[in-house]
This record gives sequence, C-alpha cells and structure tokens, in this order.
Amino acid sequence: MFDYDVIIVGSGPSGTTAARHLARAGVKTLLLEKEKLPRYKPCGGGVTAKVKNVLDLDFSPTIEDTIAHASVAFRDQIRFPVQFSAPVGWSVMRDKFDALLAEHAAKAGAQVRDASKVTRVDIADDGVRVQVNGDEFRAQVIVGADGANGLVARAAGLHRERRLAAALEAEMELPNESVEHWRGVWHFDFGAVPFGYAWIFPKAEHLSVGVGAFVHYGQKLDFRALLNQYIASEPTLHHAKKIALHGHTLPLGGYRRQVSGTRVVLAGDAANLVDPFSGEGIYAAIKSGGLAAEHIARGLDAGKLDFAEYTAHVQREFTRDYRYAGGLGMVFYRMPVTLLKTYAQSNILKHFTEEIAHADMDYHAVVGKGLRRLPHFLWRKTFQKLRAG
Ligand SMILES: Cc1cc2nc3c(=O)[nH]c(=O)nc-3n(C[C@H](O)[C@H](O)[C@H](O)COP(=O)(O)OP(=O)(O)OC[C@H]3O[C@@H](n4cnc5c(N)ncnc54)[C@H](O)[C@@H]3O)c2cc1C
Repeated sequence: MFDYDVIIVGSGPSGTTAARHLARAGVKTLLLEKEKLPRYKPCGGGVTAKVKNVLDLDFSPTIEDTIAHASVAFRDQIRFPVQFSAPVGWSVMRDKFDALLAEHAAKAGAQVRDASKVTRVDIADDGVRVQVNGDEFRAQVIVGADGANGLVARAAGLHRERRLAAALEAEMELPNESVEHWRGVWHFDFGAVPFGYAWIFPKAEHLSVGVGAFVHYGQKLDFRALLNQYIASEPTLHHAKKIALHGHTLPLGGYRRQVSGTRVVLAGDAANLVDPFSGEGIYAAIKSGGLAAEHIARGLDAGKLDFAEYTAHVQREFTRDYRYAGGLGMVFYRMPVTLLKTYAQSNILKHFTEEIAHADMDYHAVVGKGLRRLPHFLWRKTFQKLRAG
C-alpha cells in the first residue's frame, strides 16, 4: 500500500543525513530534490570543527581550505587576527559537499531522485501523499528537509511566524594573490552591516564574500548596496574578474516551536535551526537530520508515528543554547565596537570561540563562564585606569 516507508523532501545536509541513517537502518527511503545535483546553494560553506562530531563520513574530498585563523574587523577602526591552537573548521562549496552527502545516502540504500520538485503534500491519518513531476508516491512518514521556505512545514500546518536573518553572497573570482591573501583564514567585519557582519571565506580558487544581518530586529536593509560598499572598501577584493550574486533567508532558532506532528518531521532550516548569534546552520542541519532518522526508525518499529518526542528532543538539543546565543547576539550587535575591543585583549574570549567551534562548550556554558569572570574583569580595568591616571 505504501511505495516507501519515508519520503524526504530536500537534499541539503539535513535531508541527506536523515536519508543515510534511515537507509542504513533498513528503512525504505526516497529522497527528492527539486534541483539537478550537484546544485548551487548560497552559503559561505563554513563548516565548523564540531560538524565532525555529528557527520560520520569522510568529506575531505570536498574541503577547499582548512581554517586555522580568523580575522576580525570593524571597518578600518579595528582589525586583529585571532590565532587558534587547532583548525576551527573548513571551507567547502555546498554543491560538492551536499552532492557527496547525497551519494553516501544512495550508497546506504536510499533512492535519490534529483530534478524532482515536490508540488503537493497531503498528510492524512492513513499516510502521506507526495506529488512530483506528475507522479504520486505514498509513504508512512514525510521529512521536511526542504529549507527555509519549505512546502512540507506549510502542508503540515507547522509554518509559523519566524525570526529571520538574511544574507547575500558573492562568489568572486579574483587574481591569485587576493585569494592567497585569505588562505586559511575566515574574516569577519562587524562594521559592514548593522546587526550583522560581512565575511570573506577562502575557497580553493576563489573567495566567497557576503553580508548577512539579523533582520528580526526590524531593520530594512539594501543588501546589494551593503555588499557593493563592502567590496569597494576592502582592497583585497578589488580587481574582481567575475562576481556571481545569490541571496537567501536564514530561519533562526532559539524559541519553542513544534517541528513534528503525526507522520511528519522537520529538520534543518525547515525546523528553524540556524544559530541566532553566528548564522551557522550546517551543523544543526546535520545533527537534526540524524535525530529525525533516529526518531522515525524507532517510531516505525513501534508503530507509533506521532513524533511529539522529536520536538522535545530538538528543544533540548538546540532551544536553550540558542536562547543564550540570541541573548549574546542582542548585546554584541548593539555595541560591537566596545565588545570587539574587549575581545581583542582577551585570550579567554578567544579560547571560548575556539571551544564553541569544537562544541566542547556550548553558549550556555560560555555565557555562564563569561558572567562569572565579569567582576574580575571590571575590577582589573578599574585598577588599570586608577594606576594610569
Ligand atoms: C548566504 C548564506 C550563507 C551561509 N553561510 C553558512 C556558513 O558559512 N556555515 C553554515 O554552517 N551555515 C551557513 N548558512 C546556513 C546554511 O546554508 C543552512 O543552514 C543549511 O543549508 C541548512 O541545510 P538544510 O539541509 O536544512 O537546507 P538546505 O541546504 O536549504 O536544503 C534544502 C533543499 O531542499 C530543496 N527543496 C526545496 N523545496 C523543494 C521541493 N519543493 N521539492 C524538492 N526539493 C526541494 C532545495 O533545492 C535544497 O536543495 C548560510 C546561509 C546563507 C543564506
């Protein structure tokens, strides 16, 4: 009666991870992707080190650069390097990275169909119906891994008002020396965009340059103008041979929201799991894809397909921590100059950044540790001022 146990819509990191785990567990899985693979995805392609904790496959063939340092700026007022004791991540191009994950899902036994846009989803008590390219498939369960504007969340009645960030990215072909200037470095300029930042992420032969902002603060921004201004202000970005522009929204996490229902589970951006401080979403997409698979495999075994526990699990894993991340963002993006100056002088804060990238410590722990050290920090500053003056 069912064509598949599970149909997954979307072959980003969340959908491909769910497909790989489900197929491995012996679940008959169909992964549908509207674009032809490999497909371009607007993304800085910054994969933090903690992704290795949740992605049990070798993605080294897709690594364009290994990141050992960061560089932080506020226009030309502040600029300092941040050295890390170990690499904090890698730069990838998402077309290759996501295609590799889809390949692994297929190898595990999932059926992967690209160029297959899902145009209608009906979720009923007796099963799920999915329409694609004039065909209809039936399944016991559907996974919405179809990104920020996903159809599945809408069909399931799980699409609610959200907090959003937005970003515009340029893939820039530049003279070799400009690309080499940023080799091994992720650069962030917090003065280029209000409540956001501009970034330069090096790839093997070009640079991904973008501007992103947390627009839920109510600001209306002309991202194209901001990106052009930033490119004009950064000498290493002059003399571009070619620029391709792409933009997208980022649905932020940090608040309670239902991300599952009977016969349906959302993962990644479809479940609003982007870090509200940094804009990072690949880690949460992979992690939630794995969780989705775990809950679905268990539910199918037990014949229990309501998945309320998945929402609770996502909240435990992400919501509290993202609340702290959002709180940190609210303070940081309101007074970036003061806080960047403090950051520049503080080895402890740099160490915290490194730990967040490796997930040894979460935002909750970082904010807690920071607050515990605040009286000592303020006392030291006051003492220095008294001595100087
Ligand atoms: C400009 C920009 C820069 C970013 N930079 C970073 C970064 O450096 N590091 C980081 O960690 N995160 C970054 N992010 C966030 C990150 O890209 C996302 O969080 C991540 O891609 C989410 O993965 P996903 O699998 O949930 O969804 P996606 O990667 O968006 O995948 C969804 C897939 O679903 C497919 N789809 C949609 N509708 C349908 C349909 N009807 N039928 C079939 N298929 C469908 C889409 O084609 C797409 O392939 C960035 C985001 C933006 C916009």
